[in-house]
Amino acid sequence: MGAGARVLIPSDALHAGVARVAAEVSAAYPEGVLFVAVLKGSVWFLADLVRALTVPCQVDFLAISSYAEGTGRVRIVKDLDADIAGRDVVLVEDVVDTGLTLTYVLGELARRDPRSLEVCALLDKVARRIVPAPVRFVAFEVGDEFVLGYGLDFGERYRNLDEVVAGDLEALRADPDAHVETLFGG
Ligand code: 5GP
Repeated sequence: MGAGARVLIPSDALHAGVARVAAEVSAAYPEGVLFVAVLKGSVWFLADLVRALTVPCQVDFLAISSYAEGTGRVRIVKDLDADIAGRDVVLVEDVVDTGLTLTYVLGELARRDPRSLEVCALLDKVARRIVPAPVRFVAFEVGDEFVLGYGLDFGERYRNLDEVVAGDLEALRADPDAHVETLFGG
């Protein structure tokens, strides 16, 4: 694969994992569920998740921006359209890493009095956790790797890969396009 990029979760395994999680969510919410997704990374996961769901659902979106990298201090730059009071809400995340972002977003949502609030993550980096984060539905646990693809980016690149790849962070910092040729055959 070259330039330090390697496939962690190939496309078929990825879609099987999403289907498994969709079955778990469907079983937990027979009356339906409101998904809240954080832009932009979780959109790819959300789109496949809802299409594999067997119960009714609605979707809404939040966008957040970090004040400073690694501090977990974020602010909402695009708020939800829906009033989530009294609703069964599932927050959809691309990857839970330190848990700091998730903790902030969960706090914001909890203040709005949903009937229930759970988290569904595509990827969980359990070993990287700084604050405990209650993730009820997880498609895959991954190690301490920098992951790309299926919504996950570096400098807005690589989101459209239909697989999850471990990237070489050092190479990417030197050149954000470092893996483009090997992953897209460019
Ligand atoms: P946390 O606050 O849990 O440390 O970080 C969560 C956010 O950091 C994710 O929603 C994602 O935007 C970003 N992030 C964490 N780990 C990775 C990774 O391995 N790859 C990419 N592309 N983004 C990551």
